Amino acid sequence: MEKILLKNIDNPNSSDIDEYIKAGGYRNLSKALSMQPKDILEEVKKSGLKGRGGAGFPTGMKWSFAIADPNLPKYLLCNADEGEPGTFKDRPILEKNPHLLIEGMVISGYVLGSENGYIYLRGEYPHAKEILNKALKQAYEKNYLGDNILGKGIKFHLTVYQGAGAYICGEETALIESIEGKKGQPRNKPPFPVNVGAWNKPTIVNNVETLANLPYIVEVGGEAYSKTGSKDCSGPKLFSVSGCVNNPGVFELPMGTSLKDIIYKYAGGIRGGKALKAVIPGGLSTPVLPADSIDCAMDFVSLPKAGSMLGSGAVIVMDESVCMVKVTHRALKFFEHESCGKCVPCREGTEWLRKILERIEEGQGREGDIELLSDIAGNVAGKTFCPLGDGAAGVVTGMLKHFKGEFEEKIRKV
Ligand code: SF4
Repeated sequence: MEKILLKNIDNPNSSDIDEYIKAGGYRNLSKALSMQPKDILEEVKKSGLKGRGGAGFPTGMKWSFAIADPNLPKYLLCNADEGEPGTFKDRPILEKNPHLLIEGMVISGYVLGSENGYIYLRGEYPHAKEILNKALKQAYEKNYLGDNILGKGIKFHLTVYQGAGAYICGEETALIESIEGKKGQPRNKPPFPVNVGAWNKPTIVNNVETLANLPYIVEVGGEAYSKTGSKDCSGPKLFSVSGCVNNPGVFELPMGTSLKDIIYKYAGGIRGGKALKAVIPGGLSTPVLPADSIDCAMDFVSLPKAGSMLGSGAVIVMDESVCMVKVTHRALKFFEHESCGKCVPCREGTEWLRKILERIEEGQGREGDIELLSDIAGNVAGKTFCPLGDGAAGVVTGMLKHFKGEFEEKIRKV
């Protein structure tokens, strides 16, 4: 398949604007600025592009909510927080193809009537920050950003804002709080950011990969784009594969590629010739799948039917030697640490879950601990202010659903 998002990244100077232009970059921005914003919006709707940050919400529909709001100014925020464990799919775009993101953001800003955009970058990506700032400088010099883009009277400014390393700032309302200079905690919804977002103005928050699709949609048109990928979910998708595989990395593949192919064909199969035990298919907060469930298409529709979610497309592979009690304990340590503390079920629940898992792993498990884990997870899921609580509870229930025997064995060995 022709690379769209990772095009030319093997060129050692791929982040340089001249190399990007040489490869056809910014041509689609010129095309977009000769079109009416409403016509580009129609193409985005036709394309069927769904947000790549995890929720899979149709991008065109999200944009139309913000466009319909007469309030000005409107802000475009790029979510480059990428804090979900196992997820590193946006990193190659940020570090090796930054002009694709910039081009996508200028097109999006033009459609939305936004004159200011921000790239909210995760605290742990200092190298990407350097590259992005250099790329922004080059784009300003060549008039792809600024007050009169390509002499068309279009204004769009872009700034990189680096977070301080909190996972919760990947949640769009916490991201907005953070960018406003406040403590990164989620806001109540509604009102939704498309109407009341950054500085109380209509705000669109889109993921890096989502925005990087825009130049291609403008190039080929919404209809042609909608025919790529799977039946229900169009376009290319970046999958970051980590864990017990021979060839970990980021792979650009059609949406709907099978999980089995991702593991065995692209990531080179299981390391050391061992057997596959389990996969977390969409980042740590998506439920685990056992080895016999990998014959499944990786998209927003097929994975829920298989018992998990596409999430960010971060595939974490575990072989037969991996202890699932240890994995669950480690995951809950993460969620407890990253809980922002705003709501009780998550703040208290993640701590209790972690403590029980810790004692089971340390050989101090008690009779009734498995029921207690299920009970607490059930009292966290669906009762928290933002999806972090659901993610934490889902890890526990998913692990108990498929690997309960391992937990029982650890407790029995006491
Ligand atoms: Fe904060 Fe957790 Fe509640 Fe989300 S679910 S608001 S992270 S305490």
